[in-house]
Amino acid sequence: MMHWEYRQPVRIVFGNGVIHQLAEEIKSLGGNNGILITSSSFERRGDADIICKISENRIKHLFSHVTANPTVKECDVCMAIMKKEHCDFVVAMGGGSVMDLAKAAATFCLTDNSSADYLATGKSIPAEHLPVIAVPTTAGTGSEITCVAVLSDHERGMKSPINSNGFYPLVAIVDPELTYTVPPYMTACTGFDVICHAIEAYWSKYHQPICDALAVHAAKLAMDNLEKAYNHPDDKDARSNMAEASVMAGLAFTMPKTTSAHACSYPLTNLLGIPHGEACALTITWFIRFNARKGCQRIDALAQLLGYQNYEALADTLDDMRRRLGLRMNLKEFNLDKQQFEQLVEGSKHPNLKNNPIEVTEKDLRKLYQELE
Ligand code: NAD
Repeated sequence: MMHWEYRQPVRIVFGNGVIHQLAEEIKSLGGNNGILITSSSFERRGDADIICKISENRIKHLFSHVTANPTVKECDVCMAIMKKEHCDFVVAMGGGSVMDLAKAAATFCLTDNSSADYLATGKSIPAEHLPVIAVPTTAGTGSEITCVAVLSDHERGMKSPINSNGFYPLVAIVDPELTYTVPPYMTACTGFDVICHAIEAYWSKYHQPICDALAVHAAKLAMDNLEKAYNHPDDKDARSNMAEASVMAGLAFTMPKTTSAHACSYPLTNLLGIPHGEACALTITWFIRFNARKGCQRIDALAQLLGYQNYEALADTLDDMRRRLGLRMNLKEFNLDKQQFEQLVEGSKHPNLKNNPIEVTEKDLRKLYQELE
């Protein structure tokens, strides 16, 4: 018999224009001295000012030095501002990079430690944290509803997720209109992140019925709408459906966790600079075929729920889609040297690899990267 537990503590407010409810949300948590964490492009475009006004000036501080794949150093600088200014709440408006940094900073700013002390060290994470209002501007990571923050530490050459129940935002304000400005290539990358979350949640060793249903809904919605959003950035329905798929896929994977494609994405991003979603997309179809051929029957089941005859048809469809969206199909352009090849193999032995339904050995990883080389 199956045993499972489901938990989802984040209130989700979804719809075009819901960003205008921000002041109400801040008032209801009693915040008066907030910090907006966002990316520098949002500051340059004037969006940060607009958000401060919408907050009825309850946001008084700004941190915008967040790069893609945020680092522990950036997180520490943000934490120092939050401490100095005695901030009492956080608004995180951006993609996964911004939201992840904000979630980590909201907890670690209440400690005397560096965020690096908690990255893949096993150090226990305090439950106490500042309240976070998460406002996603990409349809991808689902970070607005997860208890995960992914940070990089270049000194240790690593990118890794940190998990803590304290990282759940208080509320996610999901306004699809905020995603209209995402350029086509980034739409493709983040959209494939959604598809990978859904597929990996479904086949994870820790799959469970509620998350299965969310995964099927999210995968179907994303596969039906990603190319529309890519080709027509102003297509309101496509953007809204991708935003919905992103939230649903986030809910789908939070408890079962991601697996092989995400495990491999970390070194692919870290070593070669491939954006997160594209890095996941690079191996997802390889793992669909690998897992299915090694006996994971849930993949044919998922393929059929999505309207495909079998796992091959699903993998072929996703490969065709990746090609049409201009995503890399292999690693040829990088002319990998022996050392890089070994680093990719080693880096892929990430804890998430253990959630894959079929054991992935070092030999399997070598075969994967040889085929991509
Ligand atoms: P991102 O946050 O790195 O953003 C990518 C680029 O798009 C940035 O330059 C950003 O400024 C820009 N951008 C964001 N929104 C925009 C908009 N509306 N208009 C124009 N430009 C916009 O990309 P992402 O894919 O959202 O996040 C990736 C990060 O999230 C990775 O570090 C990944 O590991 C992490 N991640 C976290 C979780 C989680 O559960 N916490 C899950 C998956 C991935």
